Amino acid sequence: MVFYPPEWVPKLPFDPPDSIPISDFMLNEEHGRRPLAQSKPPFTCGITGTEYTALQVRDRVSSLARGLANEFGWHPNQKTEWDKVICVFAVNTIDTLTLTWATHRLAGISTPANAAYTADELEHQLKTSKAKALFTCLPLLPTALEAALKAGIPKKHIYLFDLPKELLGGAVPPAEFKTVNRLIEEGAHLPKLEELKWKNGEGAKRVAFLCYSSGTSGLPKAVMVSHRNVIANTLQLATYEKLRFTSGQLDVVLGLLPQSHIYALVVICHANVYRGFGVVNLPKFDLQQLLGAIQRFKINTLYLVKPVVAIGAAVPPVIIALNKNKDLLSKYDLSSVIGIYTGAAPLGAETAQELQTDHPTWVVRQGYGLTETSTVVCSTSDHDIFFGSSGSILPATECRLVSPEGVEIEGYDQPGELLVRSPSVVLGYLNNDAAQKEMFQDGWLRTGDEAVIRKSPLGHEHIFIVDRIKELIKGMQVAPAELEAHLLTHPSVADCAVIPVPDDVAGEVPKAFVVRPASISAVESEMIVKRSIQKYVEQHKSRHKWLKGGVEFIDVIPKSASGKILRRLLRDKERERRRRT
Ligand code: AMP
Repeated sequence: MVFYPPEWVPKLPFDPPDSIPISDFMLNEEHGRRPLAQSKPPFTCGITGTEYTALQVRDRVSSLARGLANEFGWHPNQKTEWDKVICVFAVNTIDTLTLTWATHRLAGISTPANAAYTADELEHQLKTSKAKALFTCLPLLPTALEAALKAGIPKKHIYLFDLPKELLGGAVPPAEFKTVNRLIEEGAHLPKLEELKWKNGEGAKRVAFLCYSSGTSGLPKAVMVSHRNVIANTLQLATYEKLRFTSGQLDVVLGLLPQSHIYALVVICHANVYRGFGVVNLPKFDLQQLLGAIQRFKINTLYLVKPVVAIGAAVPPVIIALNKNKDLLSKYDLSSVIGIYTGAAPLGAETAQELQTDHPTWVVRQGYGLTETSTVVCSTSDHDIFFGSSGSILPATECRLVSPEGVEIEGYDQPGELLVRSPSVVLGYLNNDAAQKEMFQDGWLRTGDEAVIRKSPLGHEHIFIVDRIKELIKGMQVAPAELEAHLLTHPSVADCAVIPVPDDVAGEVPKAFVVRPASISAVESEMIVKRSIQKYVEQHKSRHKWLKGGVEFIDVIPKSASGKILRRLLRDKERERRRRT
């Protein structure tokens, strides 16, 4: 049975342009974006307030495209885009998208790399993408240099984003590296580039982004995202949120999530900017800095995910930090906030409810998607909030559920693997036929996520992501995500992860790894706290979900850049512990 968007969502036909690059779609008013002169400055530095108007951004993109063309001998109408790959390995800056769109103007590819990568991980991306240039920032320069050397990228093809002094701690960028601003200045004096001559359909074949998906095992896979994929998802989101797009209101949204991940790239930097909204960028998570930025820039929508990765380290989950630091929050004027939007990892009904209770005027929304769908498949709409759900299906998107035995699921409340068909489903994986065959079947994308469809109180179909199929705890099929959402509401749990451990009777039982809040860890006895956590589950959950595998305290839960728990690492740790005892 195919599930479609709810009735209130505008119907097909849905025909995203397929003969233009993303840069044209984003900066040329002909393609339906809000007029540049009536738009907010697209990107504002959340530390200094530095920003460029939308018209200035258009000019900077044009100059930078000329600067890049000059630097590398590129031109827009070369036969292939694969000779024009740039890698972006940096924290969020106000020029990140300027660079991306300049590359797209040249029909080149941007491959964004996770700012938390080690040199080895970055080297893998540089080599497999065959990147010709590496754009980084001073704090990441040592890693960038090491990786570039191993990948054969010469030093002269390493460039620096200009970061605010406040982030550099007195360090001065070495003059031998050209900056993005310098390329823009040089490009401003160069002759105009020839226009791109794309035939109909070319935008659907040309790769715009090569995103390395955060797979929870093995090396990351390179996902080929076309120009039309991103244009489609931007239009799907804008259509879905038509009311907010067409009203006169211009939102300011938070740009904290790493712009190396498709969620931030498409949802924050494209879907919002297309609607004329402004993004306030922050380079890393610091709760006080975040609260200060909300107050200063009157941010309306907080795009969040429970965990965020900053330079080199995982930082505490933002939403949990909001829930657990109520005193600090009360010191700031957060009255501009109209809502939060989460994605990339589950936001349990309990956490959503807690947020809502604390902030009754906020709209708590959630979206679900994958790199392989150029982000969003379904999303909560303002008028149909249903906690724990990832919302309703976007326009021009179709979903199916299939049981592990391959049986098509026909009704509500029955779990199955979610399959998706949408113009935002990507071209596939670069040089990975096995993964390609496994994920893309008969025009449908197999998400590897288990979902159920339920009706909201308003009677609309909503998608609930129950778990990653592979992560289900065998036996009675306990979903770790469900237990994690519950545990997070316990006062002694700052963060947690649940894994299966072997059990003679049940096959597998859940075990929780728990990070304790700093404020209480030293005071209470470990035994008492562990028992209280177990009892908490026993009071609220059925017997097969009890933490029979125990509770272990840990300093930090290992997570991927986009916030997924790296359960494999915890399973290895557990296996090693059992081997030793
Ligand atoms: P990525 O390709 O890194 O964006 O990861 C995509 C995966 O993130 C999906 O397959 C899901 O497992 C997970 N994910 C994304 N959004 C949600 C959500 N709202 N709830 C639960 N899991 C999510």
